[in-house]
Amino acid sequence: MSLAGQLYKLQQLDLELQDKQQELSDVENKLGDNKALLAAETKLASQKEQLEDARKKQKSSEWGLDDLQEKIRQVDSKLYGGKTKDPKELVNLEKEVKGLKSQIRTKEDSLLGLMSQVEQIESDVRATVEESELLKREWAQIQETLGPRKGELEIELAGLKGGRSRLVQQIDSEAFNIYERIRLARGQAVVKVERGRCLGCHIAVPTSQWQKARAGDLIQCNNCSRILYLE
Ligand SMILES: [Zn+2]
Repeated sequence: MSLAGQLYKLQQLDLELQDKQQELSDVENKLGDNKALLAAETKLASQKEQLEDARKKQKSSEWGLDDLQEKIRQVDSKLYGGKTKDPKELVNLEKEVKGLKSQIRTKEDSLLGLMSQVEQIESDVRATVEESELLKREWAQIQETLGPRKGELEIELAGLKGGRSRLVQQIDSEAFNIYERIRLARGQAVVKVERGRCLGCHIAVPTSQWQKARAGDLIQCNNCSRILYLE
């Protein structure tokens, strides 16, 4: 195989390596990306705290209401029990009942507000539970499919790297350095010549140049410096 042919083969290997490495890093990113799931779990924990808090407030409001209703029963029994005859005291008791009734109305309104708050948070919690279950299933599926793919890619990459270093050992070191330098600067280091043109820059290659390249000399394009390869 000509030197250019070896470098062309090396380039094919390098492109394959690059693709596999890219795929491996995409796979690793997906495997490690559980941000959405963590966010859903954090949201759920905070909603559950809110729910507990709101339920406590509701309970304490219900107890407050029970107390007021108990008080009103006691005053009512004094008012209508027949034991109290003093008109002044009766008027005071009526006033007290009126005051208690007004307190009860306020308390009932606030209890209704608290109850609808609890319902709202309960429905938020259900939605977040569903969301996080879905994300968990998706996460498990990603691990199941991409986990093995990661292993395959690692084996493929190790094989390609081994093949590359064996090939590099066979290549003249000066030619290899030229290849690496052009690859770094231009991405593609070795290009074919087709219909007398360099496929890297599409400029015509002088006949003498491509004839030398065909004969096996290491020839670089006068225009773009890429190594010319003729099969
Ligand atoms: Zn060129």
